[in-house]
Amino acid sequence: MRRRDFCKLIVAGASASLAGAVSLGEDAQQTSPLTALSTATAGRANYPNHRAPLLPLKYTRLPLGSIRPAGWLSDQLTVQVHGLTSHIGELWDILTLSAWKGDAGKNVLPECCTPRFAPRWLEGLTVLSGVLGNDHLKALTDPYMQYILDVHELAAVTPSVIAWSHLGRFLPDYYELTGDRRAITLLRKILDYSDASRDSQEKIVLEDPGRLGMLLSFGYWYYDQTGDADIPAMLERCSRPSVDDWKDYFAHFPQDPKYFVHFPDVTAEKPGLPPPDWTRQGVDVTQAIQYPVQHYVMSGDKSDVDSVIQGIANLDQGYGQVGGRWSGDEWLTNTDPAQGTELCDVEELLFSLEKSFEIVGELSFADRIEQLIYNAFPGTCTPDMWAHQYDQQSNQVLVSVAERHWHWNTDTSNIYGFTPNFPCCLANMHSPWPRFVQTMWMATEDRGLVAATYGPCRVHAKVAAGLPIEIVEETNYPFSDRVRITIHTGKPTSFPIYFRIPSWAVGAEVAIAGESLRQRPQQPASSGTFFKVDRLWKSGDSVTLNFNFKVRCEKRRNNAVAVAWGPLYFVLHIAESFKNLPSIPLGPKATETPAPPGCANWQITPATSWNYALVIDRQNPQCAMTSRRVSSMPFAQRGEMVKQPGATQYAPWNGDVPLALHVKARKVPGWGMNGASAAQVPLSPVRSDSPEETVELIPYGCSRLRIAEFPTT
Ligand SMILES: [Zn+2]
Repeated sequence: MRRRDFCKLIVAGASASLAGAVSLGEDAQQTSPLTALSTATAGRANYPNHRAPLLPLKYTRLPLGSIRPAGWLSDQLTVQVHGLTSHIGELWDILTLSAWKGDAGKNVLPECCTPRFAPRWLEGLTVLSGVLGNDHLKALTDPYMQYILDVHELAAVTPSVIAWSHLGRFLPDYYELTGDRRAITLLRKILDYSDASRDSQEKIVLEDPGRLGMLLSFGYWYYDQTGDADIPAMLERCSRPSVDDWKDYFAHFPQDPKYFVHFPDVTAEKPGLPPPDWTRQGVDVTQAIQYPVQHYVMSGDKSDVDSVIQGIANLDQGYGQVGGRWSGDEWLTNTDPAQGTELCDVEELLFSLEKSFEIVGELSFADRIEQLIYNAFPGTCTPDMWAHQYDQQSNQVLVSVAERHWHWNTDTSNIYGFTPNFPCCLANMHSPWPRFVQTMWMATEDRGLVAATYGPCRVHAKVAAGLPIEIVEETNYPFSDRVRITIHTGKPTSFPIYFRIPSWAVGAEVAIAGESLRQRPQQPASSGTFFKVDRLWKSGDSVTLNFNFKVRCEKRRNNAVAVAWGPLYFVLHIAESFKNLPSIPLGPKATETPAPPGCANWQITPATSWNYALVIDRQNPQCAMTSRRVSSMPFAQRGEMVKQPGATQYAPWNGDVPLALHVKARKVPGWGMNGASAAQVPLSPVRSDSPEETVELIPYGCSRLRIAEFPTT
């Protein structure tokens, strides 16, 4: 392990944000993001919080199934249900024979990595089943869960502590879904096994001790259920080395050279094992974002939280890509938009931010959750969710089997396929959407609710003294900047609702209206705050949020720009030509592997030019915006090969993207390919004598080919 000493870094900005609420009128207040670190109120809340001595969560999750997707978000989850999520149990040999359902000795031993695949898929299935109330999906988990829940000796399934911790992190969801108390018993076994194995030198038992912080993501829940007095000390001794190591990394990167070692030449022949002085692996980092924040629940040491806030800023500086992700192909690389980000990095960062947000209520975590789920995640899957990439690129102008400047990954990594590069992402693509829906609304300590992230949904929750209410959230967000929320309640009731005002809102306004209320003028709401409405609500009362998004330019590497509007990033619309490759080389040994029946490996080549510089005022960009109906496949663009729900064949999609921008641009003739990727973005401003044209920009999530970082004239 690396250094374990506690850092004492205090982030000035975060400390300064511990201000209280600011009164804005009789029923509206704005609060700062980190008012969180507060007193226990578990005794009067509608939903259980942590037991002492653990610090209470800032926000508590509503029971699984309390939040149902609606509108376009319901369509998106329907697409997922009909995609790989409900089919890979029959298609993937890792699952058709698996020790996780009692097929002894199959697909577990002796590999060190594959044991966690089945639990990762089961996590997605379980949560998706819960948020949709879909019993068919739950039934798909039965062959595995009915076996696992009765297992006596964990190591007989797999000795991997990391694999068992992946199973552990959705057992609370499984318990909420089924009420099966064996889930609680199994969690204790997992904790005991991890405790007994925490110093193991056997890689097959403990491949990566740095991931032991994951135990915190479900260990607290077990303690809350049982009050077992052994647990806090057990969690401390298991997780502390991991937490301290990551805390040190987050706080000191990149000033400490030992944390900022670049592989000298990414085109060089890769050594058999990564040298120990390489910078860290993407999935290790994105999983670890939550560990110090989780540990704060035991320590009460605010530097735990501050180290992560500082770490995120540092990682953005060293490896930042558009939309809040970091390059990691396989180890963290740099800010070049041709570098890749693994799907698992996106999924694990979402999980970490969702856990961290509920603990401290840090608003920037929720902002980043929306950016990741509305850009990077849909952008790295096909819109029908029948295929995914291993590595996505911000500037991705060719999807093909070819050598690229990956830090470690193989030639198939940016193919949209079944198992490009390595199968972990196939297992991990199932939980982001349902986990997002699960955490859009949460309960507050003052018996109200917080709107954490936005999208169309319906919420059933208890407020005030346990009164059940329904909230209907109607919106096309993020394809619209307006959200309307209507309250349905059996009797008039007073309770607060906190609305997150994203940091990218400009002059946001909140309007409250209802039969029982005189029409109120719109009230201003500052970006980067929670807007509190605390009043007597009657059924039918509504709140309209108008975020007033403006198109903005963000400065990127080489003085390039990225174009954003609200949480969405907009990329050059490049016409895509699809070809289904019957087989692709799988893994570094390059054995040609066909996709299973009904699946595809898509090579996508550009049919239009991509080497444009934008003619744009960076400070005040002027773009014409076209808004269209969101189609039943929300992230598809016209012409993409998709398999519609219930269809057996792929066919070109005939719908349009929900939003488009039109901007002036000129071709840059000298900007071409570097191998199989777009060459580095030329330093702006660039000279171009090419004629001015109008080009279309579309949401990142609707693109498989794209330029997201542009030079400007
Ligand atoms: Zn992966």
